[in-house]
Amino acid sequence: MPEQHVVLRNREIPGLARLDVYVAHGGYAQLKRAVTEMQPAEVIDLVKASGLRGRGGAGFPTGLKWSFVPRDLYPKYIVVNNDESEPGTFKDHEITLENPHQVIEGAAIAAYAVGAETVFIYCRGEFWQEMDVLRAAVAEARAAGHIGPNLHGSGYGVEVQVSPGAGAYICGEETALLSSLEGELGQPRLKPPFPAVAGLYAKPTVVNNTETLANVPAILEHGADWFKSIGTEKSPGTKICCVSGHVERPGNYEIPLGTSWDELLAMAGGVWKGRRLKAVLPAGASAPVLAAEQMPGLALDWESVAATGSILGSASFIVMDETVNMAWVAKKTIAFFKHESCGKCSPCREGTWWLKHLTARIAAGEAGPDDVALVTQVVDQMEGKCFCPLGEFAQSVPRSTIERFAADYAERSAAPAPAAAD
Ligand code: SF4
Repeated sequence: MPEQHVVLRNREIPGLARLDVYVAHGGYAQLKRAVTEMQPAEVIDLVKASGLRGRGGAGFPTGLKWSFVPRDLYPKYIVVNNDESEPGTFKDHEITLENPHQVIEGAAIAAYAVGAETVFIYCRGEFWQEMDVLRAAVAEARAAGHIGPNLHGSGYGVEVQVSPGAGAYICGEETALLSSLEGELGQPRLKPPFPAVAGLYAKPTVVNNTETLANVPAILEHGADWFKSIGTEKSPGTKICCVSGHVERPGNYEIPLGTSWDELLAMAGGVWKGRRLKAVLPAGASAPVLAAEQMPGLALDWESVAATGSILGSASFIVMDETVNMAWVAKKTIAFFKHESCGKCSPCREGTWWLKHLTARIAAGEAGPDDVALVTQVVDQMEGKCFCPLGEFAQSVPRSTIERFAADYAERSAAPAPAAAD
């Protein structure tokens, strides 16, 4: 199955970030059609019928999320989660740099659907170039009347603001993002209430990922049945897969959901240097690792990857060849999560500290005889007890690498070999 471009459509056209080029290829026509020919509820029903699911990692149905917003509470907000910080993830980076108007159009359609008149695009703190591109696109769109007051004489208006993030991984979690956007410390909030009811400034808010919203103009243009004809029944549409690590051609590949791993790996040129595949992290640093023998024939959709005990998440595939020691991978990922833990809850704050020191000792070949078992004890203390998903993500690589690559730990560990069964 070849690549199929929905979000990355017109990728080959030079200057697509410019308004004239975007409009020449049908840009902003669907926003105009929505506000002049469709009722907000029709837009929600269409997106619901398409089966579009959130592309940020959780895969929650987008139209359903929009339908949770109360109709009688004002103001309301759309927040674009462009805080792309997952290791190995760089799809939103490409979308916003190369096709910012598609994100703005998708977000404005979402705003119309839920009755919001303000969109905030919350960008990762390091995304200075992306913010410049988005701000220029917003200014162009506003000057041309594609956003702003009284769109096309409809009486509906929408403003779009581009906001710099706090430069912290945790601000990709939607409630931490909202706190950060309000100028507070970026730490997760207790749910409920959910953002759809009490989000930004305690008002109804929809937080959608950049790639999710970039699908919306195409869904309006071609219809729900067209979208559902791509991908699988439960995971319709395409997914941009970020492929990095030990492959010949790392990059973004947009594939119909359900495409096999083998096809994706072939698009990326295969494992580099003619080496053998050892393992794959399918969702950046956040997912349990998959061993090479789990990969052949694996369908890349939410359900199939979940059936392996891992997650598809943001579809950021970090590929590792036969030379990689997985105890070292655990050390690298936990160092990241220790750095990014916001410190709000003790299982994550203390657990990542212990895991960082234990995995560093093991990877350096300086482990004591009980250190690997101690890692398992710490992850047991974290699992299911952390305030937000970051704590759960943090323990998934240490746990899964110990379970699936015990020999790598034995190689690095000073622990004596287990006694014979007899
Ligand atoms: Fe903060 Fe970690 Fe607790 Fe999440 S799990 S609230 S990141 S300390």
